[in-house]
Amino acid sequence: MRISSNFDSGNIEVIKAESASDIQLRIRKDNQSDFYQWFHFRLESTPFVQHTINILELDKSAYPGGWENYQAVVSYDRQEWFRVDTDFDGKTLTITHTPEHDVSYVAYFAPYSYERHLDLISWAQTQFDCRLEHLGETIDGRDMSLLIIGQPEEGKKAIWITARQHPGETMAEWLIEGMLERLFDENDGISRSLLNKAVLYVVPNMNPDGSARGHLRTNAVGSNLNREWATPTLEKSPEVYYVLNKMQQTGVDMLLDVHGDEALPYNFVAGSEGTPSYSAKRQALENAFKQALLQVTPEFQDEFGYDKDAPGKANLTVGSNAVAEKFDCLSYTLEMPFKDNINLPDAAYGWSPQRSKQLGEDVLVAIHAVVEDLR
Ligand SMILES: [Zn+2]
Repeated sequence: MRISSNFDSGNIEVIKAESASDIQLRIRKDNQSDFYQWFHFRLESTPFVQHTINILELDKSAYPGGWENYQAVVSYDRQEWFRVDTDFDGKTLTITHTPEHDVSYVAYFAPYSYERHLDLISWAQTQFDCRLEHLGETIDGRDMSLLIIGQPEEGKKAIWITARQHPGETMAEWLIEGMLERLFDENDGISRSLLNKAVLYVVPNMNPDGSARGHLRTNAVGSNLNREWATPTLEKSPEVYYVLNKMQQTGVDMLLDVHGDEALPYNFVAGSEGTPSYSAKRQALENAFKQALLQVTPEFQDEFGYDKDAPGKANLTVGSNAVAEKFDCLSYTLEMPFKDNINLPDAAYGWSPQRSKQLGEDVLVAIHAVVEDLR
């Protein structure tokens, strides 16, 4: 038996891997940080034998509640990721898997590799009216890339979409992929109409270093980028520094910052109700966006989510709050589940790349519903 993780977004430590009935593993912490939750490894072993894979010490992981009612994903071809039986006793996650082939890949959620990211932005730049702009370098020397879709013209709104500040939340980049496919469909009325009224500034991956390193939550030097928006620095958070600089050049009429939530089995949004500049106008925009998304897909709901911030009590180091305050605009964090949407569960796949992509298409309808009223 062999267990390895020396590949893009791989992350596991092997404690014991001799017998299929008692494999013991641990998740490596994000570099210079105490966060750990993302795992992704390759298991080479005997097919048609049941394997019991124990991941230990998860009571101290970033979100212990994330392991309740959670099912790990497995793939043979690294394309199709299906759910497998998984239990959690408060400390140890036990994955039961009987391989049908010599090699299985096991992960927290369907990975989105750095190579796929490069393919995505390269494909995008060949589409009509899309430019690929280099914003700066990350700490590990990767490129921070921005897609600018549509012609910037007088009167058009500037809509920013950012994803994967937390690199383990790969569903966020899957969502971007679906959104881009629809945006570039020249026969799609929503997309054409939206691009008549707005320019979209899309950062498909805010944290390429953390993504390639197999981190859950931080960049190469342990910075949680979604707590860096008050005073980003080139030393600790160049990713945010460059994006915020560019936002200051373009202005921002709306931000959607896309994430995954470890614990809650729903899609939901978190608004900027706690920012000092919050207004009736912004509340009306938030409601209009939510109502449109509720209409377009039952994958979205507005009953379960984070507790609302009290007036004036928002954490202004968080991206969506900081941007709402700085630009006085509609600004939402969009959260998708690692587990499933339990209003519409799928036992075989759970929440998946395909459903994330579909939500990305649907979100364009909600943006289109509010675009004329922005700011
Ligand atoms: Zn997140």
